[in-house]
Amino acid sequence: MGQASRTTKLLLDLDDRAEGGANRAKRAYLEETAKLLDRARAFYVAFFLAHPDKLAERVLYFSEKHQEERERLISPNELLTWAESLTVATAAHPHPLSSYNFSEQFPEFPFIYRRSVIKDALGKARSYLSNLANWTASGAKKGQPGPPSARNHPTLYDEAYCLDLDGTDLHPRKHTCFARLKVYTGTEWQWHHYPVKLSRYFEARWRDPAWESQSPKLNLRKKSAALHFPQVKKVAAKKVKESKEDPHLVTVAVDLNVKKLAVITVRQDERIIETVFVSDHGLDQARFRHLKRIAKKQWQSGKPVKSEHSNQQLWGHVRRMNEDAAHKVSRSIANVCAKYPGCVLLFERLRKIKPKGASKSRRMNRRQANQLRGKINRYAKDKAYVQGTVTVEVNPHGTSQYCSRCGAKGERFSYQGGKRIQVKWGKLFGCPVCHFEVDADWNASVNVHRSFYREGHWHPRKKPPPKAA
Ligand SMILES: [Zn+2]
Repeated sequence: MGQASRTTKLLLDLDDRAEGGANRAKRAYLEETAKLLDRARAFYVAFFLAHPDKLAERVLYFSEKHQEERERLISPNELLTWAESLTVATAAHPHPLSSYNFSEQFPEFPFIYRRSVIKDALGKARSYLSNLANWTASGAKKGQPGPPSARNHPTLYDEAYCLDLDGTDLHPRKHTCFARLKVYTGTEWQWHHYPVKLSRYFEARWRDPAWESQSPKLNLRKKSAALHFPQVKKVAAKKVKESKEDPHLVTVAVDLNVKKLAVITVRQDERIIETVFVSDHGLDQARFRHLKRIAKKQWQSGKPVKSEHSNQQLWGHVRRMNEDAAHKVSRSIANVCAKYPGCVLLFERLRKIKPKGASKSRRMNRRQANQLRGKINRYAKDKAYVQGTVTVEVNPHGTSQYCSRCGAKGERFSYQGGKRIQVKWGKLFGCPVCHFEVDADWNASVNVHRSFYREGHWHPRKKPPPKAA
């Protein structure tokens, strides 16, 4: 049993009210809320740091499994109750037991926010204390860990926010709805409506009972505000070892390249039953053009000019092109996997295509291509896992050099003007033994299956026999 998770950023619409956004005051409320929560967090960070022994306390418990009393570290929930009992005034105890009086400093503070803040502060204090202990034990003179900062993105638990996708909170504009948030106006706590831009993927997961939506975080930036919503799904996937025992196991192998972004081959019963080529639709060239412009601008200005607008835009554009391509390619890989339930997805462990070459723009383009391959790999893994497909990274040694039919070492070549020339970048692969000629990337993709099954030269290396003394 595993878990797949997604975090969706839902932007709060804080445009002008005339255009359907929230008004200015509402933005100010969010800032006030974050500020007040930071102060409350600082209070509890100080409180926990003043009680380091309590954080390390061992408590006794009865273990059913071992039928005896055992010891364990005090749990966060126990610490939370303990901290509240010492700092919060109740009807029974109007004066808290310690010198830290939360109720007095933060009157009317909603209890759900208080708990969220205590949990944050506890994590910060614990990690600081353990870093400090490690540093002290190491005996180093430099690099003493600094005290924890109290700032954090507020976590909104159930009593602090409400998102109703079906109810009356629907916004007239499409793919927008209202989130109700409990915010601090500067004088008191109130519920307010904020228009949220939805994503259709988020909506689909929200309605799917297999996905569980967890508590969002409020992410406040200078010009935008967003709710970061984690959603998780339990995934039942077989272990690769078990899958490998199935004689009719389907394996889906992917070879990632620069121009033919992905070559996907599907193999069952030692036969290739499907091949999919995913081209980059001219992405490599388009990206190269943009990078050439960036390189030229950098050359003209001598050194990279910080916050130069046009370059930022260009970089943003390049990044979005890459991101988009990565999602599309990984989606088509996951779609192939979806056709064969119970299959195993195979990737080569990624090698870097070395960014060398004459021009700067070419080197930058190679670097971008490397990043793209890494992204496709990661996204495809995630997307396939949600469907229950496990990914294996296989040994990439020689996948592009050996013949996928007979296992002999072959060569790459290309045709130029009708003549066969032997070059390293050749698009075709030829085998001198069985005279097999085929697309080089397809050959590599088929070899990924062979590497997984340890066929041909991919046998585990045998240890040399021990020398006789
Ligand atoms: Zn061959």
